[in-house]
Amino acid sequence: MNDRSREALDALYAHLREAATLRSVGALLGWDQETMMPPRAAPFRSEESSLLARLTHRRWTDPRVAGWLDAAQEDPELDPASATAANLREIRRDHDRACRVPEALVAELSELASQGLEHWKEARAHADFARFRPTLARTVELVRRKAECLGVPDGGETYDALLDEFEPGMSARGVEALFDPLREALAPFLAEIADAPRRPSDAIHRIPIPEAAQKAFHLEVLTAIGYDLEAGRLDVSTHPFTEGLAPGDTRITTRFGEAGFADALGSTIHEAGHALYEQGLPKAEHHGQPLAEAAGLGIHESQSRMWENQVGRSRAFWTWALPVAKRHFGAALEGFGLDEVHGAMNLVRPGLIRVEADEVSYNLHVMLRFDLERAMVRGNLAVADLPGAWNERIRDDLGLEVPDDRRGCLQDIHWAMGAIGYFPTYTLGNLHAAQMWEAVRDALPGLDDDLAAGRFGGLLGWLREHVHAHGRRFRAPELCRRITGRELSPEPLVRALREKLGPLYGLD
Ligand code: ZN
Repeated sequence: MNDRSREALDALYAHLREAATLRSVGALLGWDQETMMPPRAAPFRSEESSLLARLTHRRWTDPRVAGWLDAAQEDPELDPASATAANLREIRRDHDRACRVPEALVAELSELASQGLEHWKEARAHADFARFRPTLARTVELVRRKAECLGVPDGGETYDALLDEFEPGMSARGVEALFDPLREALAPFLAEIADAPRRPSDAIHRIPIPEAAQKAFHLEVLTAIGYDLEAGRLDVSTHPFTEGLAPGDTRITTRFGEAGFADALGSTIHEAGHALYEQGLPKAEHHGQPLAEAAGLGIHESQSRMWENQVGRSRAFWTWALPVAKRHFGAALEGFGLDEVHGAMNLVRPGLIRVEADEVSYNLHVMLRFDLERAMVRGNLAVADLPGAWNERIRDDLGLEVPDDRRGCLQDIHWAMGAIGYFPTYTLGNLHAAQMWEAVRDALPGLDDDLAAGRFGGLLGWLREHVHAHGRRFRAPELCRRITGRELSPEPLVRALREKLGPLYGLD
């Protein structure tokens, strides 16, 4: 690399490190708002968050960024297949996107997201959509304006510009092409399971376990799977999440109660999967650069779902985890054997709440949200009509009646945070996880024995090498091809669910 390019690159990286530091201060405020902040601090918090969003945006739109990028990318010695070239390509993308959105809109969106969170919490507490409706209407209006600024791709739709932020390069049509065949496979499978000749017992889900004992169990599981508690912590929030704040600081939250200990454990393992990815990104070397960031939310979700489902609902995992749980929970679990627990962890029971859903109906929840938010962005669904449309879909897809908005369209935090175009990444994550898991099993023939013995290092090491270490060097479709040798497809997920659930439900 010549001197001019080297100097430009150093200046660019130093500048972006500052932008990332501002972002991480903003993220810390967001974490605090979700976990610790007293309610009356909300109005000032939105002022703080909005200022940080503006300052970060100003760093990204600084005209010097384009100059540094030009100088670095013009270097004749730059290998187009190198990590540096990929880093620069992704920085260019982020810079271009940032420049298209005016600072005032960024500030307005950030303020609305912060206030929206409080309106959503209040509406949810009262199970009253009307209290959230004006905020959501404004959110749809602003994200639509943002999408217009970003530009709708040729032959695409407004929604694509929003989706692209969370899943670079993906379009609504691309999502449909994966979701339609998945739906065609899952809907009849769900019906088959409903009429199955046998079903696992749900007794274990009805056992009350004190929160302190659950938390101690979670911390032991977290340590075993490799989550570094010296570089993270576990707290409680309404909506469990992971925040990869900074190098050495990746925090997770969970929620206890309502649905039994298995549900809380599932949440914790899920967030830990996200956190293991964040802790495995090369942040020490590349903080502030795409090389230290996730390849997209679909890949991020593949990591959480893999630990939650492929690992956390497996017989091998419970071979190790059941005795550990018994040690923490004492007499409560006496008499429960491995078969019963494995069955209970894989119960298919369509419910109203996405985050508590089984692996089969979960994706139907996501498809519903994708269709409804896309319709709102297109203007085909008025915000005021959302609860009705939601309830009708739940009736059609899952055969359930929604008793109130808290268990209906107010259950998720995403729209309150202005995140429209985010939901599809959940099912994309499930597809990536299932397809990647086939490659993991081929690569690690002793995996079941390892999991059954509580040895998770082999799996984590494989994920570190094949997924985490790359950051955003490869976009999701390329990463998928590199790891699995194929394009992403619904088949591995459908196959795996049939293989696992068939015997538990007595289906052939
Ligand atoms: Zn997740």
